[in-house]
Amino acid sequence: PRLANQIAAGEVVERPASVIKELLENALDAGATRIDIDVERGGVQLLRITDNGHGIHPDDLPLALARHATSKIKTLDDLAAVMSLGFRGEALASIASVSRLTLISCQRDQDNAWLAFAEGAGMQVEVRPAALDVGTRVEVRDLFFNTPARRRFLRSENTEFAHIDETVRRVALARPDVAVRLTHNGKTVRNFRIADGKEGLAERVSAVLGRSFLVTAVEAEQQIEQQRIFGWIGHPEQHRAQADGQYVFVNGRAIRDRVVNHAIRSAYEESLPKGRAPCWALFIEMPAELVDVNVHPTKHEVRFRHARWMHDWITQTVRESLQRLPE
Ligand code: ADP
Ligand code: MG
Repeated sequence: PRLANQIAAGEVVERPASVIKELLENALDAGATRIDIDVERGGVQLLRITDNGHGIHPDDLPLALARHATSKIKTLDDLAAVMSLGFRGEALASIASVSRLTLISCQRDQDNAWLAFAEGAGMQVEVRPAALDVGTRVEVRDLFFNTPARRRFLRSENTEFAHIDETVRRVALARPDVAVRLTHNGKTVRNFRIADGKEGLAERVSAVLGRSFLVTAVEAEQQIEQQRIFGWIGHPEQHRAQADGQYVFVNGRAIRDRVVNHAIRSAYEESLPKGRAPCWALFIEMPAELVDVNVHPTKHEVRFRHARWMHDWITQTVRESLQRLPE
């Protein structure tokens, strides 16, 4: 299991930002409405995520760190219709196999919190009382301390933090109903407050992508049966240096999908000066059975049941919005 964990870790844990992504998904799956993320030294020294979700029962703490132990899927039918973000039951085990991981959790009916500690692979998990409000805290120290090859692949502290920041911004856009705070080396870098409803989403988009984006962007909105696209299409002139600031969500899950990106880009085609990378924030909602998100462990890609149709529908939606852009 030691080796299997480390191999699996290679799939899900590429860098500090991938740890953050998995831990954020767990917090959201636990129904958290507030998530605090503390990062030291680009995440290599410390990643700490504290949420106010439903917590983990002390009896389940060692299990949460075991491979393929998930509380989220009980039957194969669940797997087909998976709506929760994590479902493979390998994230915590994988992360624990390449770091020093502390899991602290408190459930509402517990007198105190409980702590489980795992160091590297082949872990002997020890559980003891601890102090924490209702919710869960995961502390990941010394990432890749036992896999020096992978550690050498990491970039500078600032670059690794930039990846973390990007991951946090993505989640913040997907979930305006959750408060998210991010610190790096003790300094608050992001502080997104809870924002409700459609106006809340606009507020969150403006907090993440900048007010200038929202001021010049046009709204997109299309619905066919139970499939809906809404969001903001950025002005081609309001570009960024790279293609950051391009956000697409399918059923609340951030995706980076070539088909979808191509569909959006081809709508911009004529209006896009060479070398420009406009911003967009698009939210797609559709019945779970029409989209497969279970394509790759890192879950950035999706497979639509009607891929061709989706592509053309997205292009058409974006094109119609672009026609309303001020000159
Ligand atoms: P998965 O999310 O795929 O189930 P993970 O390895 O990410 O697998 O987590 C294992 C289990 O630990 C989860 O199924 C869940 O029961 C529990 N867990 C992990 N993080 C949290 C959290 N922040 N709050 C509550 N439960 C959690
Ligand atoms: Mg998970």
